[in-house]
Amino acid sequence: MQVRSNANMEIAEASSAPTYSARKLQHVHPFLQRQQPEFERIFEVVDAMPLDDTHCHLVTDRDALTTPKRFLERISLAGYPVPFYFPSGVYEQWLNGDEATRHLLNRQYDIQSKVDEMTYHLSQSVFIKFLTKEMSQFFGCEPTLEAVIEARNDRGRDYWGYVNSLFRDVNYENIIHDTGYMEGVGRAEIETFEKAIEPCRSHRIARIEAIQEELFGLEITFDEFEARYTARLLDIMDGNGNFGKKSVGMKSYLLPDIGLIRPLYDRKTASNSWNRLRKTYSDRALMDREASANITKDLCRYTFTVTLEECLKRDLPMQIHTGDGEAPYVILRNQDPFYLEEVVRFDKNNMLRMPKIIPLHAGYPSVGKASWLSHLYPNCYFELSIMTPFVHQSLYERYKQVLEAVPISKVLFASDSYHVPELFWISGRWGKRYLSQTLTDSLVGGSLTFDEVIEAARMILYKNNRSLYKLD
Ligand SMILES: [Zn+2]
Repeated sequence: MQVRSNANMEIAEASSAPTYSARKLQHVHPFLQRQQPEFERIFEVVDAMPLDDTHCHLVTDRDALTTPKRFLERISLAGYPVPFYFPSGVYEQWLNGDEATRHLLNRQYDIQSKVDEMTYHLSQSVFIKFLTKEMSQFFGCEPTLEAVIEARNDRGRDYWGYVNSLFRDVNYENIIHDTGYMEGVGRAEIETFEKAIEPCRSHRIARIEAIQEELFGLEITFDEFEARYTARLLDIMDGNGNFGKKSVGMKSYLLPDIGLIRPLYDRKTASNSWNRLRKTYSDRALMDREASANITKDLCRYTFTVTLEECLKRDLPMQIHTGDGEAPYVILRNQDPFYLEEVVRFDKNNMLRMPKIIPLHAGYPSVGKASWLSHLYPNCYFELSIMTPFVHQSLYERYKQVLEAVPISKVLFASDSYHVPELFWISGRWGKRYLSQTLTDSLVGGSLTFDEVIEAARMILYKNNRSLYKLD
């Protein structure tokens, strides 16, 4: 109860005159108000800092109105792939169907009870319980999921205004969003989102797999495929081929498909893989995920290599999906950060060429391996998303683990937000809070001075991002 009465007081104060102390109290969970004075000193500066998100996805208005169950499903990594647990199209039919359709599909596939079981477990995660408390502070409502969703739906009547208030609350100044995950929407929805979050500036990154998706179904020769792939790539990098804008880097999702990525320069091997794809294309939907990935493995190694060469020429970074989940359609065991060593090296003619590689998602849960790869190879960066925000309070320990090995100059803040804007907000809120807590240890332990702590936070939260992508 103490939590709630404090929160109400702060919000009342903040809405009339947003003094710093009100803002600070609102951003620090009561647990942390008992921290040492060094934390208070650091947090006061860090909380007011700008924030750049180096890897995230767009928000659309499809979640403007929601239910507690639907919200859990959309925000959770284990929840949103629920359609993939059923034959293709069945879940969408159930979700959008009338009572009779749902009844029929429930009898056939037991959808309702499976979804109920999933959302029950999602609701029992500490992440959700903690997020609920944080959101109740933001809204000034009871700290229950039902009350929070009711308050959110109220704000959902001016959804873009709500989204904007979340971005401003944690001070986002730049985001780089990956246009490879669009849920069927296009340029208009991207532009609406980018406009809604202003004055935060939006930059885009394109996914290799999105180009491949445009071309893999075409009955053309390998030569023709290669020419078209390269033309699209150059338009994305040098023209406005990323939904009307230039791409500030590229993204690859190859690791979960094939594991160890060895660069491939040999056109003949790639061409054989293209021909195998042509022969099996119509059967792919029914193939298991490993068999399907094997057919295109060499072709994808080739497109990856072509793309990384072009990135290298322009000094553009390549983000590579590492660690993390998206079960049940990815192959979890393939996502080991060490499987990126050959592309980090990118050696040719006895020379390491050092393209800028950003393994995504902190390599989570292999955070130590991703950190160590970045420690050893100067051109390998470290990105904090998925771990931020999903490990919540334990970000304090995880950030410590990262900073024990990775140079501060290579750590990039990111959220990997998708679907709902609260992921952006909670990532910023927890990112700043627990980074401050981690850096407090550095100050108290004597490894960093106060000024070095503040500079480290600036670098991680926005400066490294701006210099890497040359945003200024
Ligand atoms: Zn992502």
